[in-house]
Amino acid sequence: MSTTESTTGSSPAKPSAANAETTTGETVLTSVNPATGETIATHPIADEQAVAAAVATARTASATWGALSFADRKRYLLRWSSRLVAVSDELCELIHTENGKTRDDAFLELMLVLEHIAWAAKNAEKVLKPKKVAPGMTMANFGATIEYRPMGVIGVIGPWNYPIYTPNGSIAYALAAGNTVVYKPSEYSTSIGNFMAKTFAEANPELPAGVLVAINGYGATGAALVTSGVDKVAFTGSAATGKRIMAAAAETLTPVLIEGGGKDAVIVAADADIKAAADAVAYGATMNSGQTCAGVERVYVDSSIRDAFVTEIKKVLSGVHPGSDDKASYGPMTMPSQIDIVRRHIDNALANGGTAVVGGPESVKGPFIEPVVLLDVDEGAQAVTDETFGPTVTIRTVKSVDEAVELANNSKYSLGSAVFSRKQGVEIARRLHAGATSVNSVLGFAAISALPFGGRRDSGIGRIHGAPGLMEFVDPHSIAVQRFAIPGMALLSYQRTASTMKLLRRLVPLIHGRHK
Ligand code: NAD
Repeated sequence: MSTTESTTGSSPAKPSAANAETTTGETVLTSVNPATGETIATHPIADEQAVAAAVATARTASATWGALSFADRKRYLLRWSSRLVAVSDELCELIHTENGKTRDDAFLELMLVLEHIAWAAKNAEKVLKPKKVAPGMTMANFGATIEYRPMGVIGVIGPWNYPIYTPNGSIAYALAAGNTVVYKPSEYSTSIGNFMAKTFAEANPELPAGVLVAINGYGATGAALVTSGVDKVAFTGSAATGKRIMAAAAETLTPVLIEGGGKDAVIVAADADIKAAADAVAYGATMNSGQTCAGVERVYVDSSIRDAFVTEIKKVLSGVHPGSDDKASYGPMTMPSQIDIVRRHIDNALANGGTAVVGGPESVKGPFIEPVVLLDVDEGAQAVTDETFGPTVTIRTVKSVDEAVELANNSKYSLGSAVFSRKQGVEIARRLHAGATSVNSVLGFAAISALPFGGRRDSGIGRIHGAPGLMEFVDPHSIAVQRFAIPGMALLSYQRTASTMKLLRRLVPLIHGRHK
């Protein structure tokens, strides 16, 4: 396991995670505060050998961890939660410093992490205990059971935008299912990732090293993890990286769980509560500086309420500003390279029929970007088709729910979504091509541990959270036990007789041939 060295002081001139590309030959990753450029810590970068060593440690630990009862694993996971609560001030301060988000948002993120650890720990047995299944009439002399085996070692590769919540959607569920985890946090949240692994070990000193190991580095370290022989890779990040990981994993048919990007749409129907919809959209579009995979990026609002809705959004956003003090609504952009993308999307929207009704190009002020609302941008513009990942939102006026649904579904992404309607919320939700939909709220699904989360196409493959999130990290093992032999009915033997076949030819039409 890599060790981490903390340094203090201001040295923005040093190479930093905030401005370094994936490099070769670099041995140290420098973590910086995105609001100030100050150095927070340095971390040794794990090369291929270090990654292999971490996976070997996790492999050894998996013999102990995987053999524990669900009750024992639950106890260890819940102790980890209690440890996280005990050090929550320190953790939230670290998240604020390394990621930029407000301390309150850091605490809310921690709260969600604790909810998910608890859900995974407490529900793993119910979801994953062996299940007896009916053997079918022709195999009635068998007992049939599905057992769910831990896969072994899971390689988790995380992003930086929700530096504890997002990777935990894989880590807690993989651990609860009996796997050990080698975790490569984003180069923009390395100190936070190490903190999580350290607290697990501190909470559970009697466990062998390697149940949860952090390894540090850029894309090259992640790539080494993908080809290290782990039993599954659980990745959260951009669709482009997800595709590279899937291609590399294909060489060994290593399974992948991919949580990619989003361009989430919100439909505001004519019968919506306009104030509530505007309040939720304003929050969902700008919180965390818009750096939310399931954040609100597109809105389709009925023409009959468009003006009232825009007026309300303006009202809400007039009091919303970024910063890094305690009064700030949200923090800086964590990754400097994203600032240019946001600027380009605003320019692109204005060049493609859009009008800025809140903010504009001048809202991009270094790492801090003020809220920007863009009205009636052409649907084919990049600002509408591609993930912006900034505190901006496009609002399009539509004539009907049908038009709204069609435009919302016309995307290469399919992650989250939301609908505001007093009477037809669920009905509209069912028509959306998305992994999750909140009705009369935004992002509600992400806070309910039992609900699976994920999407298709550029939004990824598979699901985190809930029962499907546990199932991602097990191999079903089918066990068929012959309880007694039926004389003359030895189907799987050369002892099978002509009269057995005669009987079967009479039975099969009775069982399967009666349906008209
Ligand atoms: P990213 O793809 O740049 O990096 C993600 C991780 O992959 C990092 O740890 C990085 O070091 C690693 N990586 C880079 N190249 C690699 C390679 N070739 N092999 C293995 N690992 C490699 O993404 P990001 O900028 O950190 O995160 C932002 C993206 O994540 C956005 O698109 C956002 O929508 C998405 N996201 C999705 C979810 C979700 O649950 N669907 C949640 C949060 C963020």
